This record gives sequence, structure tokens and C-alpha cells, in this order.
Amino acid sequence: MKRAVALVMVAAALALAAPLSAQQLVDAARLDGYKKEAVKGVDEMAKLAQEMVDSVFSFGELGMQEVETSRYLTAQLEKFGFKITRGQSGIPTAWVATYGSGKPVIALGSDIDGIPQSSQKPGVAYHDPIIEGAPGHGEGHNTGMPLNIIAAIAVKRIMERDKLPGTLMLWPGVAEELVASKAWFVRDGMFKDVDVNLFTHVGQNLNVGWGQQGGTGLVSMEFTFEGETAHSAGAPWRGRSALDAVELMSIGWQYRREHLRLSQRSHSVITNGGDQPNVVPRNASIWWYFREIDQPHIKELMELGIKMAEGAALMTNTKMSYRILGTAYPRHFNKVVAETMYENIKTVGLPTWTDADQTLAKALQKELGNARQEGLAVKIGNLGQPQPLENNTGGGSDDIGDISWNMPTVTLGYPANIPGLPGHNWSSGIASATPIAHKGVVAGAKVQAMTVLDLLTKPELIKGAWDYFNNVQTKDEKYIPFITRDTPPATHLNKAILEKYREQMRKFYYDPTKYPTYLDQLGIKYPTVRTPSSDKPQQ
Ligand SMILES: [Zn+2]
Repeated sequence: MKRAVALVMVAAALALAAPLSAQQLVDAARLDGYKKEAVKGVDEMAKLAQEMVDSVFSFGELGMQEVETSRYLTAQLEKFGFKITRGQSGIPTAWVATYGSGKPVIALGSDIDGIPQSSQKPGVAYHDPIIEGAPGHGEGHNTGMPLNIIAAIAVKRIMERDKLPGTLMLWPGVAEELVASKAWFVRDGMFKDVDVNLFTHVGQNLNVGWGQQGGTGLVSMEFTFEGETAHSAGAPWRGRSALDAVELMSIGWQYRREHLRLSQRSHSVITNGGDQPNVVPRNASIWWYFREIDQPHIKELMELGIKMAEGAALMTNTKMSYRILGTAYPRHFNKVVAETMYENIKTVGLPTWTDADQTLAKALQKELGNARQEGLAVKIGNLGQPQPLENNTGGGSDDIGDISWNMPTVTLGYPANIPGLPGHNWSSGIASATPIAHKGVVAGAKVQAMTVLDLLTKPELIKGAWDYFNNVQTKDEKYIPFITRDTPPATHLNKAILEKYREQMRKFYYDPTKYPTYLDQLGIKYPTVRTPSSDKPQQ
């Protein structure tokens, strides 16, 4: 269809229906038709959704090393006519996929990285790794980009046919567990033309909220100390131990913790503890996450960390340096976009769970010793409301926060996991390549597609979203990034782990040309639950 013809049709639709805002591109009936068509389109792609969910699950890659994942997802997008650019912000596994042209620009993002030591057979309701010690999708990040891709394809077909103006942009949250990419994407202008960002994150229900969110923001910093080697027994007085500095910094922080606010969370791992005991450690490093609920308090913790490290260096006569590896701003989501999305959530509703799905969920909740075995969600909740700072007792972070302070943003939660899990654990991988995840992704993709259609056809929504962003959200509070122009992205992270496990993991990559599902490929009966006669030891 020629553009002129399309415009005539749009004009005809405008003339027929009333009342209609002067700016609206299509009338309510036409938009309703588009949404129904998108829902049908998503349902028809349920097989593709399952293949993508299972494939990304089988790659199980950690942050900054999402090589197979990014190769696979961009290949899918290219097949459906999206244009890809790669290597954003100097991050090899980052990319952007676009379709269409002009305004509005609607971005769809989701995280793609896994969790260390969370290798797990899907559909099995107890700890049973595919490869002992290997990484896996112990958060469920394998499901978000497949959801966005299905939604985008469904909308693209309508845009193409009816020549709807606008651009769809898909992008991956690289290394979300390290909060190591989104602030860099923002800094480098990746979203500069974007009108609204629709983020998705795996959850246990369909939900969205607006305003200041609960949880924390954080700065992730690695402190490195440099001393001098010496024979640890022959001449220890001639050495200066960098490991001593790491230990002193850590013990200093543990004492100080008593005098920190209740809302803070801080935790560390020692990334280098020296080489061997008979050589005084010349180099040692400790990696901290400093979390608080607002920017000024995160900054305070960060400055305290630097002071603590300086003290440790003084005590040990070593040299100290530090670098930022990641950062996440506290999140604030857009009211207008959240309200629009919530209407679509109500229309779509939750998936129909089978007895097998509920049996798996309840068996896992029992396995983990949960007081209640409530199974899977069967009722959607209310629209999420703002969390005042004084009620925020802390919790997790997500670098979508940095994006949420630069443009109207929301996060769609979708029911692709089992409620009541500890998170960052093998148990979060159990549902992630089963019908629970497959159906949760299909439901989420419908909501996502319908919301994109709302934003593409109702310019007043974009205007309203920016009005909230400019005149409410950022009226008195501005974004102050923790990284500077020259903070490099920490692309080295997780390299050694993937080098250790990748060849073993490759044998378990999902082959959809040979097996209907990944459960079939692994020979897993769905669901596999512990039986009284099961001799599998409790782990
Ligand atoms: Zn996550």
C-alpha cells in the first residue's frame, strides 16, 4: 500500500469515529483491532517463543560473555527484517536492533545474563545440575528478550501493512547482574532518540508499577592493593602484604556496618588473594557492591569505601587503586506508561496453568522448606504504587534505574517463574525452560505488543509520559551518574569462568531442529518431583 493511500485510510477512520483527539492516528475500534491481531500473532508464534526461551536457557552465559546468546538473538531479529548494530559502548555482546523510521521511537529491552553456579536441569524440582559448578539461568534472564522479540514481530507486521510511522528498537541488558552496561548505554547516547523504554523482567505475575520503586541503587567497585613480595618464612619483614590490606579493609567495613543506615546493603568477594602462601602477596583485590536507597547515600557509602581502603593501605604500607565496575540508579517508573500497560495486563490476564505446572511449583516450594506451598500465581495484582523512601528497607537493584531517570520507562513483570524462591540460585532455573516460562513469555509478549500499539497510535500518551517525566519525576531531582566520560566498561568480567565451562556447556546447547523442546533433548519427564522412594540425596 502506498503511503498516500494509507493516509487517506487513516483520515477516513478519523472522520468516521468520534470523539477522537485531533492527534490520534487511528480510532479506538481500529486500535482494538490491531491489539486483537497482535495477540493472535503472538499466539501463533508460541513455538518460536519456546525455541528462543529454551535456546538462551541452554547457553547459560554470564554477564559480558553473552556471546552465543547475542549471536542467536540478533540472528533471529535479522531473519525478521530488523537492522542490527553491534558493540555499543565498547561492549562486544551489546547490540541494537531497529525496524521502521521516525517518531515515536519505542525501545524494548530485557536482561540476558545468567548466574554463577546455577546450572540446573529444567522441570526437576530439586537441585540437579546439568554441569556441576557451571553457570546457568538462575535468575530467569533467558526469557525477557524472546518476549520482546515476539512482541516486536507481531507489531512490525501491523506497522508494515498499514504503514504506521514509528521505530521499534530492541536492546539487551548486558551483564545486569553486574549492573555493568545500562549507565554506559545512557552515557554514550544509545537512547537519545527514544520516546519511551518498555523494559521487561522475569517475575511470578503480570505486573507493572509507577513512581519511586523499592530496592536500592548501587556502585560496584574493585579495590586493588600493591605491596612487595618476600620469602614468607625466610624474610617476611622485607615484604608488604596486599592481602593484609584487603583483609583490613574488609574487617574495617564489618565494624563500621553497625553504624550504617538500616537501608544499606554491602557485600564483597576477594577477587585476588595472592599467589601462594610462601610468597608475601604483592597484589590483592576486593570487589564491593555498595547499596543504598537514594543517590546521596550511595555516594556516601562509596566515599566511605574509598576512605576504608586508604586506611588499609596506610596500615600495610601498600599502594591502593580502585575502579568502578558497575552502577545502578534507584528506579523511578513512569505513571502514564504504567497505567497504559496495566490496562493491557487486565485484558491479557494470567496463563492457564496445568496440573503439571502447579505440581512442579508446589514440589519446589516444599523442597526449599517454604512455609506455604502456594503454587503459581492465579490472580493478577493491583497497579504498583510509589514506594516512599521512608518505607524503603532496601533490597535488590537493576541498572534500568539509570534509563528510568533519562526517559519515560517502565518494567513489565511477567509470570515465567515460581513464587517464593531465594533468587540467584539453581532453583530459579527450574521453571525457566518449561511450559511455565513458555506461557509466561507469551502472556508478557501480548501485553508488551498491545502497549507498543497504544504508544504508536496515541501521541497524547507520549506527551503525557514526558509531562510526568519533566514536571513530576525530575522536577526537583536530577540524574547524577556515578560513572564519568572515561569510565571503561568492565568487559573482562566472567571471562575465566566461561573459558573453564564453555566447551562442556556447548554439548548441551538446545537443537530445535532435532527436539521439540529442551526438556525432550535432556530426556526429562515433566514434572520430575522427589518421591518417597527417591534416593536422590538432599542438597
Ligand atoms: Zn534480573
